[in-house]
Amino acid sequence: MSDKFFTPISGMELPRFAGIATFMRLPYVQTEHPRAAEVQIGLVGLPFDGGVSNRPGPRHGPRALRDASTMIRAQNGATGVRPFDLARCADLGDVGPNPVDGPDTLARFESFFAGLKGRGVRPLSAGGDHLCTLPVLRGIARDKPLGLVHFDSHTDLYPAYFGGKTLTHGNPFRSAVEEGLLDPKRMVQIGIRGTTYDNVDTDFATAHGIRIIRIEEFFARGVADVMAEAREIVGSAPAYLSYDIDFVDPAVAPGTGTPEWGGPNSFQAIQVVRECQGLNIVGADLVEVSPPFDPSGNTAWLGASLMFEILCVMATAL
Ligand code: MN
Ligand code: MN
Repeated sequence: MSDKFFTPISGMELPRFAGIATFMRLPYVQTEHPRAAEVQIGLVGLPFDGGVSNRPGPRHGPRALRDASTMIRAQNGATGVRPFDLARCADLGDVGPNPVDGPDTLARFESFFAGLKGRGVRPLSAGGDHLCTLPVLRGIARDKPLGLVHFDSHTDLYPAYFGGKTLTHGNPFRSAVEEGLLDPKRMVQIGIRGTTYDNVDTDFATAHGIRIIRIEEFFARGVADVMAEAREIVGSAPAYLSYDIDFVDPAVAPGTGTPEWGGPNSFQAIQVVRECQGLNIVGADLVEVSPPFDPSGNTAWLGASLMFEILCVMATAL
């Protein structure tokens, strides 16, 4: 690209600890910005955790992820991909939530992402809790259901909590299937583990043909074999990638609300994303980083690194 506007600030020009922290040191391009129409992949913060059912904090995720992401350089050392040469990327800022009104927040988020879809911008969002994924899908998948690659230690397929119709971070994918935003036959959930309430979530998966690859199977088969099956399930049609940081073992990524032991290490956490290369990922998110439970900052740093890996897959798919 001859025009340097969409090129991140290099650590060789300005030290990484200096300047205002945007995602990956990209330009900050709000909707009214004169160059907003040129953006192909938009990095977006969703500072909302009103869907959390246990320990809170992911509302602080976008700031911590932005700060950590200033360490990201321009090239993927393993794959050679240079995402900022392949796609015009920008930090679109945060979508303002209403922290005391979940339904209002979901409506604001949906409207923002519907606007992005209208302008042909593919979103890569930083949560926020996992409920944030639902309004993103409502914004970009109303016309045609998407496939889904979902990394998590939980299925997030539970019915409403606390009686009534309460939406939480424990049920966004059940809602998305029921609303026709996802094609369950093109869905794969990887890394599931921990204690459970009952079989209501897995029964829903079985009834709809959603493939669940539990952590025991993941470790028995290995990353490459599992991800080959995942690519087969999702196919070549447009798909979404949703990455809950609690997929990773809490020894590595403790800064999250609902940790579960017996998970992947940081290398495996990164490898599963690289193995998504070739999928037609039209939107993605990295959710559930909770800075108050992340005193070392390691969880945010891994989250930012995963966002870069996801961006490489998205930029290649353009
Ligand atoms: Mn989740
Ligand atoms: Mn989870």
